[in-house]
Amino acid sequence: MNNKLEYLKDILRKSDNIVFFTGAGVSTESNIPDFRSSTGLYNSKFKNYSPEEIISHSFFIKDPKMFYEYYFDKMVYFNALPNPAHKAIAYLEQIGKVKGVITQNIDNLHQLAGSKNVYELHGSVYRNYCSKCNKFVNTKDLLEKKNHPYCECGGLIKPDVVLYEEPLNGQIIDEALEKIINAKVLIVVGTSLTVQPAASFVSYFRGKYLIIINKEETHVDKYATLVFHDSAAKVLSEVVKEL
Ligand code: NAD
Repeated sequence: MNNKLEYLKDILRKSDNIVFFTGAGVSTESNIPDFRSSTGLYNSKFKNYSPEEIISHSFFIKDPKMFYEYYFDKMVYFNALPNPAHKAIAYLEQIGKVKGVITQNIDNLHQLAGSKNVYELHGSVYRNYCSKCNKFVNTKDLLEKKNHPYCECGGLIKPDVVLYEEPLNGQIIDEALEKIINAKVLIVVGTSLTVQPAASFVSYFRGKYLIIINKEETHVDKYATLVFHDSAAKVLSEVVKEL
C-alpha cells in the first residue's frame, strides 16, 4: 500500500490534467448508502418492488406518490456532508491539478466540498421541475408535497435525476467525454462500473495513468496502472498530504 501511495503521489505531483470519475462509493463515508455493496440499496426491497423498478420513469408516472415515498426515504440525505474523499478531490482542483469531476452521484457533495467543474451525469436531487410549466421547485418544498407532488399548474413535479429508462443529457455527455478523452490521468473512485452508459465512459480514456480506488474489484482493474481496493476517504486523504 505504501509503495502504491508513493507512486500515486508521484503521478499527481507531475500532472495538471487529472480527471475524476466517481460513483456512489465516494459518498458511503458520508453515510449515503450505495447500490451494490452488501449494505447497499439493492439488497433491500420496498413493498415488494426492487429499487430498479421504483426508480424508473414508468413507475414514476404510474405511482408518483409511492415513488416519492421511496425517494425521500432512501435517496435524499439533507444532512449529508462531504467526507475526506470529496475534500481531497476539491483540493486537487484548487491547486490546479484537476480539470473535472465526472460523477454518477446525485447528492451534490462534490460541490459542497468545493469542486467547481462537476459534470453530473445522473442529475441532482437538489433540482426539481414541473413537467408541464417547467417551474423550479426546491427539494424541501417538494418533500412537503410528497403525497401530492403537483405544481399549481397541475403538472407533475419531477426530480432532475435520470431515472431508469431515461436518456442522459447529451450536452453533459459531450462535455464529460471531452474531459476524459483529453485527460492525462483518470482516477475512478467508488463505482462498480455497471450502470450504463456512464460506466462505459472510462473506455474513452487515452491518457497514461488509469487509477482505480474501489472497495471491490471492477472489470477495468486489469487495465489500470494502480488499483486500490480500499476506502476512498482513506486513500485520497493520504495521497493529498504533502502535495
Ligand atoms: P454502485 O453501488 O453500483 O457501486 C459502488 C461501488 O463503490 C462498489 O463497487 C463498492 O465496492 C464501492 N465502495 C463503496 N464504499 C466505498 C468506499 N468507502 N471507498 C471505496 N469504494 C467504495 O454505485 P455506482 O457505480 O455509482 O452506480 C450506482 C448508481 O446509483 C449511480 O448511477 C448513481 O447515480 C446512483 N446512486 C447515487 C448515490 C449518491 O448520489 N450518493 C447513492 C446511491 C446510488
